[in-house]
Amino acid sequence: MSSGSVPARIGRLMRWQRPVGEARFVDRSRAEALERVGVHTIGDLARHFPFRYLDLSDVRPLVKALPGTEITVTGRVHKVTVKRPRPRLTIVEVAITDSTGILLGVWFNQPYMAERFQEGEHVAFAGRVEQDFGFLQMKNPFVERLGSAEAPSHLGRVLPIHRATEGLTTNWLRRLIAAAVDDVADVPDFLPVRLRIRHGLLSERLAVRAMHFPRDVAEAAAARQRLAYDELLCLQLGLAARRHTITVERSGIAHITDGPSLQRLRAAIPFALTSDQSTAVAEILDDMGSSRPANRMLLGDVGTGKTVVAAHALAAVADTGTQAAMMAPTEVLAVQYAERVGPLLDEAGVSWALLTGSAGAKTRAEVLGGLESGEISVLFGTHALIEKSVRFQRLSLAIVDEQHRFGVVQRLALRQKGSAADMLVMTATPIPRSLALTRFGDLETSYLRQRPHGDGEPRVTTRLVTKAHRDQAYEEVRSAVRQGRQAYIVCALVDESDALQARSANAEAKRLAQEVFRDLRVGVLTGKMTSAERLATMQRFRAAELDVLVATTVIEVGVDVPNATVMLIEDAERFGLAQLHQLRGRVGRGRYPGSVLLFADPKTAESRSRMKAVVSTTDGFVLAEEDLRLRGAGQLMGEAQHGLPELSVASLVDDVDLLDIAREDAREIIAADPHLGAPEHVALGIEAKRRFAEGWTWVSSG
Ligand code: ADP
Ligand code: MG
Repeated sequence: MSSGSVPARIGRLMRWQRPVGEARFVDRSRAEALERVGVHTIGDLARHFPFRYLDLSDVRPLVKALPGTEITVTGRVHKVTVKRPRPRLTIVEVAITDSTGILLGVWFNQPYMAERFQEGEHVAFAGRVEQDFGFLQMKNPFVERLGSAEAPSHLGRVLPIHRATEGLTTNWLRRLIAAAVDDVADVPDFLPVRLRIRHGLLSERLAVRAMHFPRDVAEAAAARQRLAYDELLCLQLGLAARRHTITVERSGIAHITDGPSLQRLRAAIPFALTSDQSTAVAEILDDMGSSRPANRMLLGDVGTGKTVVAAHALAAVADTGTQAAMMAPTEVLAVQYAERVGPLLDEAGVSWALLTGSAGAKTRAEVLGGLESGEISVLFGTHALIEKSVRFQRLSLAIVDEQHRFGVVQRLALRQKGSAADMLVMTATPIPRSLALTRFGDLETSYLRQRPHGDGEPRVTTRLVTKAHRDQAYEEVRSAVRQGRQAYIVCALVDESDALQARSANAEAKRLAQEVFRDLRVGVLTGKMTSAERLATMQRFRAAELDVLVATTVIEVGVDVPNATVMLIEDAERFGLAQLHQLRGRVGRGRYPGSVLLFADPKTAESRSRMKAVVSTTDGFVLAEEDLRLRGAGQLMGEAQHGLPELSVASLVDDVDLLDIAREDAREIIAADPHLGAPEHVALGIEAKRRFAEGWTWVSSG
């Protein structure tokens, strides 16, 4: 492969982008069929990778087909049977035999499958072996007809199974892909050769080909390795560039980090920091003391004490004579900051204010005035902080709590109220490391793993309760209340709209108040209430004027009532792991241990695993890894928010090592050549921007 001049390389790279209709053999109807599966360009077609392989080099004789295993078998079609046991049910059974046994391929309500097979023909099935009435069978196996002469010659012993589409047969799809792969074969590899050599990676051309049509399983694995690395490197390049733009190219404020306010604040804190907290404070102050704009994420499970860590940063800002903003996702939380951090700041002699959507016109005007004059050093609040009318005299620190609730845009909007302000994001969602490195790879991280009260005792115990034991669970609530404690009952269905959630919470609160807890004071909290109503209810609960609070997931974030010790969660199987974990963090926050009872009726293997996980560990990071494994990255974070595309080859579960390598490479490349202008990086830059355009847009606006 000749490398050619830089413009020639760029010109040829563009070939990937030509419409798929220009690919060989792709006529109009095939182009339409391809468009339906998201294949728009020749590059898309060449990268329409198989989602699994049918490995003919490892075919088990039928007698060795063990129920419960996923395997490939081959045999001759012995008999095709179509059964209609009920009016609307068709079952096609295709019996295949080899010299050792017999196995049935079974299809439900796909009568056309019967036409696909001819008796005596040689076929391969791949799928999970089951045993039914003494017969081995596979339901909806992947099928390859081996007897047919039409099988393209580029196929080896490992057959790719591509995502099929209506209007294109498997064989045609393979043929079109093979042609497209040929077509882009002389497009130069975008990866600098030194990286290929460093990591022993296949060339791009070979990897793309082998991913589709591997000679054997090892070659498929090598292909996957190269292509996964490409994805991770491109993503990390975008993140590294973002980080570079923010932290290196701009000059921010070097804060005073040993001033009198900070000293007074330290003295005012009524407890000793955990060592994790001390480390985090040191890391944050270190960032702030430098003139490079800081960009850090503080990760800590609920109850690990992030707020007091943040308070140190606020005091340093006051010592510097600049301003800080701390944004919370809900009004309840914003008020809580003011109530808890405010007094510490008062003692430290730091002026502060609270601004939320429900502030009256007079308060609002006062606050806005105080900000512009610089009289107010610290502002707590909600989304209201990013409104246009909010202007700071000199904002030098933006803190965003529970940051996954805010989009990148909102984070930015707050930061841009200052010029090159330091940024600290805090989250109680224990993000698995691999996810943190991809989603927030532009941020440095500080972790709080210890709990302040950590004396080895678990603070919260979680149990699964069958609905038959409902009365016992209610008795537990009653007994807690008798001892002066309080309880939450969470009865929202996560999939339902706010309105439906609110209705079910309201109905449940009514039922409980009238039938179950007639002697107790029951309140209700839903997302449908106005924020003033919500606030009032929370205040009554905090003041122990309510015994039981029936709530939707609005209590998930940050609510802190140390006297609440019991939580019942209805329909727990419908909640995600992260959400359950967040919820249970609401109890056991004070002197008394917490008890969480999950009413659950898990029906799928996945939801059973989730229930098992949440009962068996209180370590949020362990749960997060489990969640990632069970549900995939998209589900975990809500893809829309981070603005980065899904990885298609790389896996955040299996490729953690590769991710570290790619991240290191990316940081090294950006440090040496921030704009990827060196000849050996031009193609890499184009490819990285093509793949993760949004990541790079952020760079120019960040
Ligand atoms: P998070 O925001 O991480 O969930 P908080 O900041 O709300 O946690 O802290 C939880 C509770 O623990 C608060 O009541 C806080 O005052 C208390 N706390 C924080 N750090 C310590 C500590 N080092 N020792 C004792 N209590 C602490
Ligand atoms: Mg908090």
